Amino acid sequence: MLTMDNTTECNHGHSGFLSFFMCASDPMCIVGKDGVIQRSNPAFQDCFGPLVRHLPGMPPGALVSWRSDVSAADVTDGAFPGGVLQCERSCTRHDGRKMRYGIEMYPVDSENSDTGYLAVYHRRRLSNQAVGDMRRPEERYQSIFNNAVEGIFQSTPEGRYLDVNPSLARLYGFDSPRELIEHYSSIRDELYVVPNRRDDFVRIMETRREVVNFESQIYRRDGSVIWISENARPVHDKHGRLVCFEGTVMDITQRKRAEEELEHQREHFRQLFDKSPQAIVLVDLDRNVVDANSGFEELFGYRMKDICGFGIRPLIVPESLLEESESYRNAILSGTPLLKETQRKHRDGSLLPVSMIGFPVFENGEVACIYYIYQDISERKAFESQITHQAFHDSLTGLPNRLLFSERLEHAICRAKRKRQKGFSVLMLDLDRFKDVNDTLGHQAGDELLACISGRLSGQVRQADTVARLGGDEFAIILEDIEDLEEVKDITTRILAELRMPVRIGGKTIHPMGSVGVVAQAESYTCGEDILRNADIAMYQAKESRKGYLVFDQEMHERLVESITLEAELREAVREERLVLHFQPIVCVEKGNICGFESLVRWPHPKRGLVPPGQFIPMAEETGLIIPLGQWVLSRSLWQLRQWLDNSSLFPDGPPAGLSINVNVSSRQFGKGTLVDFIAAALEKNNLPPECLKVEITESLLIQNPDSAIKELNELKALGVLLAIDDFGTGYSSLSYLQHMPVDVLKIDRSFISGEESRESSQIVESIIAMAQSLGLEVVAEGVETERQLHLLQGLACQKAQGYMFSRPVSADQAEELLRQSLSAG
Ligand code: C2E
Ligand code: CA
Ligand code: CA
Repeated sequence: MLTMDNTTECNHGHSGFLSFFMCASDPMCIVGKDGVIQRSNPAFQDCFGPLVRHLPGMPPGALVSWRSDVSAADVTDGAFPGGVLQCERSCTRHDGRKMRYGIEMYPVDSENSDTGYLAVYHRRRLSNQAVGDMRRPEERYQSIFNNAVEGIFQSTPEGRYLDVNPSLARLYGFDSPRELIEHYSSIRDELYVVPNRRDDFVRIMETRREVVNFESQIYRRDGSVIWISENARPVHDKHGRLVCFEGTVMDITQRKRAEEELEHQREHFRQLFDKSPQAIVLVDLDRNVVDANSGFEELFGYRMKDICGFGIRPLIVPESLLEESESYRNAILSGTPLLKETQRKHRDGSLLPVSMIGFPVFENGEVACIYYIYQDISERKAFESQITHQAFHDSLTGLPNRLLFSERLEHAICRAKRKRQKGFSVLMLDLDRFKDVNDTLGHQAGDELLACISGRLSGQVRQADTVARLGGDEFAIILEDIEDLEEVKDITTRILAELRMPVRIGGKTIHPMGSVGVVAQAESYTCGEDILRNADIAMYQAKESRKGYLVFDQEMHERLVESITLEAELREAVREERLVLHFQPIVCVEKGNICGFESLVRWPHPKRGLVPPGQFIPMAEETGLIIPLGQWVLSRSLWQLRQWLDNSSLFPDGPPAGLSINVNVSSRQFGKGTLVDFIAAALEKNNLPPECLKVEITESLLIQNPDSAIKELNELKALGVLLAIDDFGTGYSSLSYLQHMPVDVLKIDRSFISGEESRESSQIVESIIAMAQSLGLEVVAEGVETERQLHLLQGLACQKAQGYMFSRPVSADQAEELLRQSLSAG
């Protein structure tokens, strides 16, 4: 048999053969003369498997029969054994495929001088020429040596080449083996890029007696660098002395490049994994942690070494999300990456909002493991919830805003429908005169007051109730689980009482006041808007009536509808000048003659008849209609006076000097900057001297709005118009203002004159008259209904009087008649 150890005679054909045998890309095997395979090379085992005993494609007894029958058809060289056998056979590979191979059989010497054969299987067709005349073993090995694809060499232990085959020469960039051998005088220093490699080579050879897959970089002739892999063994002479090394060389540059490329990619990926700020964990199909990066350690508080091999779920998935996480996992296992926002658990148990990517990793077409990539999104989530909070809350008080309140209201309605239990109520609260606080103490103080009120309201309700700021000084409250009307009233009373507690803001003590509209059985509504509207109506009427709070009822709604209708009608009446003026004479107490009239507006309404001013003036003031209405009254009054003065049947001797007209001017008509000019123009238009107009104002104008009012009053005064204070005595007790007001006339309110006579009122009347006289003001007593009242006034030296006793307010024609009578009496 062919020896496989190192003691073979030094014969390069022989031992070089072994290296070649092992490295050859063609399947080869050594077969004994009994036809049993004794050794096969890796290529052979790749094709036919390691356990084949007989030559593939040959009948087991073939060799024996060839030996006895040299004239067998397959033997092309008649001298077999000693010649080469060539044939083509269909062989069954170990993967079951059948393939056609050319088979060459070379007789080889074995160590015990028995003859065996080298069988070479070619995929390529045999050429008769290639078979040639290789009769002697040396020649045959030489042929293999020369034709091998692998590089084959023999080198001295000192590092010079003894022999190389053409393949190696080509591999190293030489035209011939000779050139190569002459080129390198030291393999160590000239071939290897790292000279130490040769030392390694020799050392390995000494210790292991062979060098296997020894990979190095070498210089080719042109200086280019390639990667090679060497298999080599030492060759000894028959005395056991080391003669040389021999082996094969393969160019593995391409494989190395591919490996390097792979290594780079691996390295890049590793960096990405390690350095990523995102938390990355690799989990196997049993949900166990395979790898985790530092981002993961940081985010979840675990160390990789502590969790590797452990199930990921109990570590980071919150109990409540197990089901969700399982469904995500199934989606990923089906092969699609997944991006979700969810929550995970930190080691300390706290919940983390995260965005999660689940990424399936495939091996051989199947999901082998899953990468999970987590990003902490708590900051974004916090920001989002802050934004949401801002959208639903009032920034000043932190209370729910109108939007959230409406939502809660709708919920309350739904809940009440479902539960059919207790009802709920809604309160609408509006601060009284909040604007004054803002105007006098500044917005900062206004804000402080609102914050204080919001605290008080919240303090008076239960946890389940909702207190909201709807805007400005308007608050709304949902009271849940209300038993009955009495309960709502109690709570509302309590809230108002708390609200009214004095508070110090900006160095001033404020007594907050509020009006509340209540919708008691809010559960009977189907729409939150309706509840709010009705609470608003009730609140509005509570404010008007100064009742603190009012519970909404249907009547309120009707009243509201009525007032809205009335407003529209009044607007139209004013525009179309369908109002009329009545005139009430003002009489000189001493002589009893008419010295002037007060003009009083009336609204002839198609359905309501003649509507008295008390029923529409307040509304006109609120809606601003008082401006055009007041202008019309002024113009019309002056026009009327002009008519009378120009009436020659009344004044045949020309108009008298003293006749005047009193016109009521609402405080709302002041402060617009147009009143004085308007009056001046109206006087001029009617060619009237200013002193024939007496403008009646109320004390409240002087109290509420003094600076700008006084400015306009002074301008009126400068114009020559006279000013009368109407309803005097009903307002403010402080009379000191009269000293520096440009006032000419005081009209004592009729409550002191008409009705039951009392000591108190007559004293008041008496002191008003005394004071007016001391200030040089004229006094008119209103509401004189009886002779006795007139008599008393005469006794107090009151100059003028007005009242039913003389005449009710009458039409212009009737007034003219009264004037005529008065003149004729005089
Ligand atoms: P006022 O200015 O105090 O007008 C006097 C009111 O007292 C009139 O009521 C008149 O009819 C009533 N009156 C007169 N004598 C007596 C009497 O002897 N006994 C009783 N019990 N009442 C008497 P009227 O006309 O209903 O006016 C009510 C209020 O409407 C007026 O009170 C005035 O404040 C306002 N008003 C009337 N016309 C106008 C107007 O053109 N402009 C403005 N801004 N307000 C007006
Ligand atoms: Ca008046
Ligand atoms: Ca009056």
